[in-house]
Amino acid sequence: LRRNPGEVEFHQAAHEVFESLSPVVAKRPEYVQASIIERICEPERQIIFRVPWIDDSGKVQINRGFRVEFNSALGPYKGGLRFHPSVYLGIVKFLGFEQIFKNALTGMPIGGGKGGSDFDPKGKSDLEIMRFCQSFMTELYRHIGEYTDVPAGDIGVGGREIGYLFGQYKRITNRYEAGVLTGKGLTWGGSMVRTEATGYGLVYFVDEMLRADKTSFDGKKVVVSGSGNVAIYAAEKVSQLGGTVVAMSDSGGYIVDEGGIDLDLMKEIKEVRRGRISEYAESRGARYVEDGSIWDVPCQIALPCATQNELDENHAASLIENGVEIVAEGANMPTTQAGTRALREAGVRFAPGKAANAGGVATSALEMQQNASRDSWSFEDTDARLREIMQGIFGNCMTTAEEYDMPGDYVAGANIAGFTQVADAMLALGVI
Ligand code: NDP
Repeated sequence: LRRNPGEVEFHQAAHEVFESLSPVVAKRPEYVQASIIERICEPERQIIFRVPWIDDSGKVQINRGFRVEFNSALGPYKGGLRFHPSVYLGIVKFLGFEQIFKNALTGMPIGGGKGGSDFDPKGKSDLEIMRFCQSFMTELYRHIGEYTDVPAGDIGVGGREIGYLFGQYKRITNRYEAGVLTGKGLTWGGSMVRTEATGYGLVYFVDEMLRADKTSFDGKKVVVSGSGNVAIYAAEKVSQLGGTVVAMSDSGGYIVDEGGIDLDLMKEIKEVRRGRISEYAESRGARYVEDGSIWDVPCQIALPCATQNELDENHAASLIENGVEIVAEGANMPTTQAGTRALREAGVRFAPGKAANAGGVATSALEMQQNASRDSWSFEDTDARLREIMQGIFGNCMTTAEEYDMPGDYVAGANIAGFTQVADAMLALGVI
């Protein structure tokens, strides 16, 4: 805490992992001898830089850029870029820290990192977005590379932004190094299923939880918070598997459509028009609640897919009262520690983000594989790989939890399985 004052989200993420680790430390004294916990909390490198750009009125604007290269014991740093006004070092470090263990759980050779800027893309013109991305990459390019650090998207960074970032990287370096960024478009080095991967992967993970309980999505009511990349494709896969998504949200409010959300309309509003979710209610006659809590909507499965700390103990109480059975995190750390505790004490099955939302980064690693071999795989093959990876993560969490006498505890399973894999690699690589 003293080393990282004011970084509350980072403290929260570290605390959440370390809560699970006492049985590991007792069993593996060599981790203590090698100060693995102290080392793993200290990023290998943190870069903070000025991002000047010119807005449409000709005024120079200044934002702050970040890249935290947290841990490369398993492979090049890998993790997304977030453009949102709330971004500061504490957010980037929490995301980077989570990413270390998530990436380990995928079983792919990728380390952990994260970056972004306090730039707010909302209301900016396309040219302003391009000028910002070009300026951001003009500094970032010297720190990244396919063997060093491979950024991707996150909140506020989708295909359009990755395009402008990649274009500027290519221009500065004079190299078509496709493996330097993931989330690229399909005609210029991207992978099938990357757009859908985090949402689909989340729902594949929940499907495994349901199968373990000898049930399925059939007839289940599902609430998905957010209406961005993760939320839309989680909702799509839920409906393909027989569930009904009855509510979705954005930062302005939420909509309830009891017959099931019309995803074509949602995609048109969010992906094409870049509009607000209230427009959905206007077009469909669905109920729109401004500034309310989406967790008041009764459901059996809740999928928080918007942002950190969006589900607290009061929201948990409301979900429990309405009979929720499963909460699975599509976003990073969307549930507060008190919220998680309340849900688990009430017997709700809880899947932590670092396991349940790992499908996105896993498919990014598949994109890197395709780039390295100058190949591209079909949608079906890539989707099958994603499903296999999610089943593998689920199995790993289950068996690790059992091994440590906490059967069914996916939080402990994910934290311990991710941590031991990174810790073992750090031991093998020596004191570096
Ligand atoms: P997007 O920018 O595509 O969408 C974010 C969504 O969340 C938007 O609907 C946004 O609404 C909403 N939102 C953001 N902040 C708030 C808030 N304070 N209150 C309510 N709603 C909010 O981001 P992604 O879908 O890519 O990311 C969502 C989450 O998933 C993040 O936690 C991210 O870290 C995590 N994640 C993403 C992965 C990916 O592959 N994209 C991979 C793994 C995790 P509005 O438009 O009004 O701001």
